[in-house]
Amino acid sequence: MRVTLGASLACPNRSFASLRMTVPSLAIRLYCNTMTATTSTPSKAPPTLFDRTPRAARELLTQWVAERGLPAYRAGQISRRLWQAPVAAWTDATELPLGLRAELELAFPIPRLAAEVEQLSSDGTRKFLWRLADGEAIESVLIPSGTRRTLCISSQGGCALRCSFCATGRMGFRRNLSPFEIAGQVREIVLRDPADLPTNVVFMGMGEPLLNWPSVDASLTILNAAEGFNIGARHITVSTVGILPGMEAFARRPEQFRLAISLHAPTSPQRLSIMPIEKKYDLEAVLKAAAAFRKRVTFEYVMIGGVNDRDADADQLAKLARRLGALVNILPLHPGGAPDLIPTTAPRIRSFAARLRNQGIEATVRRSRGLDIDAACGQLRVKTERTEKTERTERVVSRTSPSSPSSPSSSPLPQTP
Ligand code: SAH
Repeated sequence: MRVTLGASLACPNRSFASLRMTVPSLAIRLYCNTMTATTSTPSKAPPTLFDRTPRAARELLTQWVAERGLPAYRAGQISRRLWQAPVAAWTDATELPLGLRAELELAFPIPRLAAEVEQLSSDGTRKFLWRLADGEAIESVLIPSGTRRTLCISSQGGCALRCSFCATGRMGFRRNLSPFEIAGQVREIVLRDPADLPTNVVFMGMGEPLLNWPSVDASLTILNAAEGFNIGARHITVSTVGILPGMEAFARRPEQFRLAISLHAPTSPQRLSIMPIEKKYDLEAVLKAAAAFRKRVTFEYVMIGGVNDRDADADQLAKLARRLGALVNILPLHPGGAPDLIPTTAPRIRSFAARLRNQGIEATVRRSRGLDIDAACGQLRVKTERTEKTERTERVVSRTSPSSPSSPSSSPLPQTP
């Protein structure tokens, strides 16, 4: 299902409403608030061919092809169709004999992420809400910029971390995504248009990637491998609040993947006031783990009025950034995630950034993208579910056309480092 909202979105809510009417059976999500564990299973579905790294998939296919007495080169042909030149269904792999396509359909059905909502911003940013096989919903955002196409992907359904400014945090944790459900976000984009293959991928959508390390680990390989999407490691960024075991595992990968730390506060008490994870992995421990990372790290710093945006905060942040040689990426707060927090004003953000730069720190202020769509982390799902809830209520009460209570949104861009 595909909906493209125009640039000027005269009545976005009506578009959502009509979309929802075509899928009346969608359940209302009820969020559980349980904390996640690194061992949480991705989903009840058994791992598929698509959950394997390209090499492991090739090995399985080589064996499968040999068992059927087929020529060995068929394994290579089939493997190419997983990620390099993906097909929506085996029947589209016309270089293979019809009988083999039918066998593949039975042995290795191709999983898909159903595009339930697609929003197009006037600045070209596109946001997708994908419905997974078990009904879970996740988001991705594609941000074009010159010759770059950055895809912001989700690693979990919901998030357990409950950062006070984040829409996904408000949902609570649903479940971990499988390797396929992570890499499949890229696959679906490429299936729509191979020219949209992202040049950059950031794990800055829903969820905490380092609380789902086994799946993120495999998906990094799928994104980066020549037999996968062949996206350069330096163009792939994992963003984390600082989950220490995950950071250690990530640091052990030999590739030049990038690390971004969601710092958001320059002292432990300030951080604790907006990020409950500070209790478990405190600022000092996170900084030590980041220092052990061989490559340059980025600090993400969301600007919240009166919380972390004073000159003294900039000075303390500069000290931390200098210690690690870190780049600071300043994010305007998107109020969608935090109705009770006040975004720092644009002039204040500029002077905060200037103060960092005056102290020799490289600081970028993230340009807002997708201003006319729900481009901030978790917002589209929240909005869609609010709409579903309203519709169900209205269907029961009046059986008239549903409408959405959502307000038009502005947005910070979804994370291009
Ligand atoms: N859990 C990971 C990745 C997902 S969030 C992490 O925290 O790094 C991606 C980035 O968006 C994080 O830096 C997060 O703090 C930021 N973010 C979340 N809600 C936001 C909001 N309302 N406004 C601005 N940035 C937000």
